[in-house]
Amino acid sequence: MKTYWLEHAWLGTHVEPGVALETGSDGRIASLRTGVEAPPPGAEVLRGLTVPGLANAHSHAFHRALRSRVQVGSGTFWTWREFMYTVAQNLTPDTYFALARAVYAEMALAGITNVGEFHYVHHAPGGAPYADPNAMGEALIEAAAAAGIRITLLDTAYLSAGFGKAPDHHQLRFSDGTAEAWAERVSALKPRGHALIGAAVHSVRAVPADQLGTVARWAGERQAPLHVHLSEQTAENEACQAAHGRTPTQLLADHGVLGPRTVGVHNTHLTDGDIALLGGTTTGTCMCPTTERDLADGIGPAVRLQHAGSPLSLGSDSHAVIDLLEEARAMELNERLRSRTRGHWTANALLTAATADGHTALGLADAGRLEAGALADFTTIALDSVRTAGPLPRLGAETAVFAATAADVRHTVVGGRHIVRDGSHTLVPDVASALSESIAAVRG
Ligand SMILES: [Zn+2]
Repeated sequence: MKTYWLEHAWLGTHVEPGVALETGSDGRIASLRTGVEAPPPGAEVLRGLTVPGLANAHSHAFHRALRSRVQVGSGTFWTWREFMYTVAQNLTPDTYFALARAVYAEMALAGITNVGEFHYVHHAPGGAPYADPNAMGEALIEAAAAAGIRITLLDTAYLSAGFGKAPDHHQLRFSDGTAEAWAERVSALKPRGHALIGAAVHSVRAVPADQLGTVARWAGERQAPLHVHLSEQTAENEACQAAHGRTPTQLLADHGVLGPRTVGVHNTHLTDGDIALLGGTTTGTCMCPTTERDLADGIGPAVRLQHAGSPLSLGSDSHAVIDLLEEARAMELNERLRSRTRGHWTANALLTAATADGHTALGLADAGRLEAGALADFTTIALDSVRTAGPLPRLGAETAVFAATAADVRHTVVGGRHIVRDGSHTLVPDVASALSESIAAVRG
């Protein structure tokens, strides 16, 4: 049992001053008391605003190695993808472990306690399986443990280069050949204390329509999350229409992929019918605004999706930056630029997407809330930095979402264990060096 005294805590609807939070030996919040004006004896004091741990619902850890490098020159999503394949070719279980450990440590420093890793680099270059066919996925699970955060490994089926096209030479290591072989391999992955196993369809480009149902069934049998990149680019919509005479969303619906455990990532270029289908099936939407703007994807209809019934989550995806607070405000600010009106989401609503709804999208229904019984995962944002000083503390949620950055995160606690203390990672002593060394090893 350990007691924390939270100077201010965001309790989902408002900011409460003076909260005593006890964690149990089971890694959960044992009790929460409000109106505690001074720290109880022996309590660890967390100054600033404590919020539930942030959920990064969409990550490709190795894309971190592309940061800045892909900002030189112009190009499109598709030329960016060529850079990405170069880095992918240099990954091994060892180099990927080192890179992912550093990236997940960066996430912990940004207040992220749970990552949804959309993982498709499965096999050795050329496509031969490793001795352990899940060596790459295991490296990611171990990397999350080494960085002290939770992971939902969204093991991704990636079987084709496009509609009716075999994988190209870059993509051979992503492919299991068939969805059946994918399912057999993934079934050998076991969840553990900090790790859940989920499924993903890379996209309707990368999984033939007649194999979508196999992936959906695998996830359904296990009640596991199922994620899919959806309509990020108009070219995907056009190719899907040409091949199947329907939109990607309709194709997924026709093969049983949509539903409350399913999350469409990006959901950028949708028809009115797509929005109704996603909302009507309560399929989630994971917006990745810093990546979507970086890749010139466009602005997805997040407001309309949410009104239609699609819960929203957020992801840093390509890690152009790793800052869930920036993702949250970017969703609102993008919508302001498009609509020329303000106030599409409150700070409370944006924080809910970054916390409770993000964890639910990753299969963790008992995280993302500061309440007794929930996982003891939380993070503390400074309210006295040059960015955050000034506003009244009761506006802490607004300050966190609209002014703070990842650099304002002071503490991160996962399962009652203090992973970031006073801005320093407790398990990875020099995260910047870990990043530069592990990126140099895969840069190519
Ligand atoms: Zn992605």
